[in-house]
Amino acid sequence: MVNKEVIFAPWRMAYIKSGGIKDEGCFLCRVSESGDPLLIHRGESCLVILNRFPYNPGHLLVAPRRHVGDPSELTALEAEELWGLQVRCLQIIRAVMNPQGFNLGMNLGAVAGAGLPGHLHAHLVPRWNGDANFMPVVGGVKVIPEALEETARALREAWGG
Ligand SMILES: [Zn+2]
Repeated sequence: MVNKEVIFAPWRMAYIKSGGIKDEGCFLCRVSESGDPLLIHRGESCLVILNRFPYNPGHLLVAPRRHVGDPSELTALEAEELWGLQVRCLQIIRAVMNPQGFNLGMNLGAVAGAGLPGHLHAHLVPRWNGDANFMPVVGGVKVIPEALEETARALREAWGG
């Protein structure tokens, strides 16, 4: 879905070196139960969170709160909220970050690149013309945690407003 050759995201090395998501319970289930500094919105059946290992600034994950791995397992209400939140995310990111385009979609199954195949999630990645050049301006490895929390704050404000 995301063209990894084109997007330059050096902080993904932290993710790759960590061996990906460890089997210590499901990250999205934990966020749904306990919250997270990068949580943007917790709806009735679905949630929105900033990806801690983004391909671009504003890279969001939209997921059902229930631990399901396949879209066919979603209830009608979950499916409706999941899509509604993705549309809302497009609007919020457009308003706050003014991208020229998006990658929006799901990786289903480990072979398709899903880092968390048991708990489905849509990736929403804002794109800018020449974002390979844009990225280093935004920050390197060390400033990313702060940048992420600042971005999360801005998006939560926009969501509430
Ligand atoms: Zn889960």
